[in-house]
Amino acid sequence: MSITNPSSASGANVHFEHYCEEVGCEKWGGFGHSPSKAIPVRWWCWEHFPYKSYEQEQALRRQLEAAERDG
Ligand SMILES: [Zn+2]
Repeated sequence: MSITNPSSASGANVHFEHYCEEVGCEKWGGFGHSPSKAIPVRWWCWEHFPYKSYEQEQALRRQLEAAERDG
């Protein structure tokens, strides 16, 4: 029986948690942005991501308004 232990294999699990950096927001920060490689990436949820295009911003706003109307 020869098993190579996958959990001790090279460099697994280089993973860190990055939630939305907006104060009070507890959503997962799935959208990162960094102006250059020298600067660490900052993370936001889609709602708070500040680098959306105008069209994306409008689309999100419509979604949020629709969700509010539905209660
Ligand atoms: Zn957020």
